[in-house]
Amino acid sequence: MDRLRMDYLKGLNPPQKEAVEHTDGPVMIIAGAGSGKTRVLTYRIAHLIHAKGIDPFNILSLTFTNKAAAEMKHRIEQLIGLEARNTWMGTFHSTFAKILRVEAEKLGYPSNFTIYDTDDSKSLIRSIVKEMKLDDKVYKPNTVLSRISGAKNRLISWEAYLNDPYIKADDESAMKPRMGEIYKTYQKRLFKSSAMDFDDLLFNTNVLFRDHLDVLNKYQQRFKYVMVDEFQDTNLSQYLITKKLAAVHQNICVVGDDAQSIYAFRGADIQNILNFEKDYPDLFVVKLEQNYRSTKNIVQAANSIIAKNKAQLQKNVWTQNADGDMIELIKASSDNEEGRVVATTIFEEKNNKKLNNSDFAILYRTNSQSRSMEEALRKMNITYKIVGGLSFYQRKEIKDLMAYLRFVVNKDDEEAFKRIINYPKRGIGDTTVEKMLVAAYEHDIPLWEVMTNANSFLSGRASNAVEDFTTMIKSFGIEMERKDAFETASSIAKQSGLLRDLYEDKTIEGLNRYENVQELLNAIKEYVDNPENEDKSLGAFLQEIALLTDNDRDKDTTDSVTLMTIHSSKGLEFKQVFVVGMEEDLFPSQMMMQSREDLEEERRLFYVATTRAMDKLYLTYALSRYRYGRLLNCEPSRFLEEIDPSCIKVNKRMTASPAGALRNEGSEGRNGFIGIKKNPAMRPQSTAKVHTPSPDFKPSNTNNLAVDMLVEHPKFGFGKVSKIEVEGINKKATIQFENFGEKTLLLSFAKLRII
Ligand code: ATP
Ligand code: MG
Repeated sequence: MDRLRMDYLKGLNPPQKEAVEHTDGPVMIIAGAGSGKTRVLTYRIAHLIHAKGIDPFNILSLTFTNKAAAEMKHRIEQLIGLEARNTWMGTFHSTFAKILRVEAEKLGYPSNFTIYDTDDSKSLIRSIVKEMKLDDKVYKPNTVLSRISGAKNRLISWEAYLNDPYIKADDESAMKPRMGEIYKTYQKRLFKSSAMDFDDLLFNTNVLFRDHLDVLNKYQQRFKYVMVDEFQDTNLSQYLITKKLAAVHQNICVVGDDAQSIYAFRGADIQNILNFEKDYPDLFVVKLEQNYRSTKNIVQAANSIIAKNKAQLQKNVWTQNADGDMIELIKASSDNEEGRVVATTIFEEKNNKKLNNSDFAILYRTNSQSRSMEEALRKMNITYKIVGGLSFYQRKEIKDLMAYLRFVVNKDDEEAFKRIINYPKRGIGDTTVEKMLVAAYEHDIPLWEVMTNANSFLSGRASNAVEDFTTMIKSFGIEMERKDAFETASSIAKQSGLLRDLYEDKTIEGLNRYENVQELLNAIKEYVDNPENEDKSLGAFLQEIALLTDNDRDKDTTDSVTLMTIHSSKGLEFKQVFVVGMEEDLFPSQMMMQSREDLEEERRLFYVATTRAMDKLYLTYALSRYRYGRLLNCEPSRFLEEIDPSCIKVNKRMTASPAGALRNEGSEGRNGFIGIKKNPAMRPQSTAKVHTPSPDFKPSNTNNLAVDMLVEHPKFGFGKVSKIEVEGINKKATIQFENFGEKTLLLSFAKLRII
């Protein structure tokens, strides 16, 4: 045992070791990116079990994704063996959903409650807004949901919401005075459907621990050691849960980096870090500043970025790693060109440095940016996977089968009911559905009861169709009692007619949908066959699936390049990282430029992106891009200017690109990326003398025109200003045009577009 113990502690530097060995009492590790925070948590758990003899059953660690938890478990197993199996690890949502399942009845919920995903929640809000005869352009499902979510994350119940004069005034000034009523109805309807949304899982855990001290006590006894990774992104609701759990033993260890707080828009509160010090006066604080992940150039670039933020705790992140390559800046003429350059670079780097696909990640601000990357990677036959985005479980056919499964488990589930009552078509029209729903609300009786008494208020044909449906669901219910999740689900897919409906559609899309459903059945089979899953029932499977985050859903083990949003990349590392779309309005996002706080959150996001790279970081931007169905001109992101110029260089290579592509020329602008110059070698020869103005050509105001600026002239094309002269009131510019040589123009007449 001692040998093993000595061995694993060797993998830590002195402050890391201190953090690992300080097992009792409150500990906070505030540290820079890549400094081993997650590693410390992992070793700490191993240490608790191995050296301190703590029962793994008494340790709870909360991670950002379930995948991160699985990864951690795996590493602990490597350190100390299979003993690690029984530690409780997972996200806040999955951990407390499990607890709520056990304790549901205390809150008036059945233990088989459904977890609504965002789509279900929005659909429910849509129906409520409609029933209340409100304008859905004002009360947009997205807006309403995020308002409700914000309230729940701050533990404001609908009752408190309706009674709060400030909230009321706020909603009134936002011209949405009925928000509180929607919140109330939404909660009532969730309850009636025996459903909780994601935020309820945390909200209700708080209620459970507040109102049932015996339950709280039970979990306080059980979780003698509580640990939280990515603490900077916890919201109030999550913070209070951890605080309550640790209130007796006080063995709580939180790990985070204020510079990586990127979920304020979802209610995460950096204040939690500051409150923590107040809540635990005898707090042991550890700072980790040595970065083990990245080269010196990357660390220095990341430091220079985050230094621009005013709100931050002082940290001095450094590394002993090699200087490494400079960060490379790549300019492309369009989003498609950007994709091509990235794909080509990956191809070359892979060959030159003998790397795998999985050593590369392409990170972007918004999901839609993946399209041009995907196209280019596909053309070059580079295998990739998309993490997040429209994931498997959000596809219609998958949601349809899932709705059947959900409804069989929980017959109050209104959103599932609406999806399947007439799919595949069985002659139950919208009016019949409406009548049943209204009957359930008005008489406040369960939907299932309404359905099983359909003949008392529906016409013969409709009532027969409903009866056939309920008979079928009942028979599924009987199967579920006797069979495992896989057998039940396969039978439901067949008997409901869903598989047949998809099978009959012989288009390529139809075939894909059919295969997707088969794939879901495979996933259920895998779940049932996994010896770690003791409960093999359909209900248990559904619970597991409802809480997978997008990051957890990738099962693909083939060697592939990872494409993901920066938000999903938190905590991960790759040898080479491309941060694409470094353009104003895209990154920083247009939506996040209202205030300094917003901009600082975007900058933290950029910090997260850059610090994912171990060996090499590329930043790319395009000069034009299709957005909202239009071709827009783009400007390089302001963030590029903020990087310490000594660690970044402009990529000079020309990659496979179409005629007329623009080329980087180097030294213009502070970091050399402002310059745009047509590459004569790439220009089609036949069009040499005729310049056609760009489609968006509009003369600029030339008052501030200066030497070295690049311009476009409607006749002479592109050029660079070499001299400005003022004679009396006349201002003249000498411009070196690519195709027409030097020209001196009087600025009051010349039509110039500054690029
Ligand atoms: P992030 O802020 O991105 O979540 P982190 O602080 O959690 O990063 P880790 O992911 O734990 O950092 O560590 C970054 C990398 O450095 C990992 O590959 C880890 O194995 C390695 N590392 C950390 N500490 C040490 C150490 N003392 N010796 C060797 N490698 C280390
Ligand atoms: Mg980490």
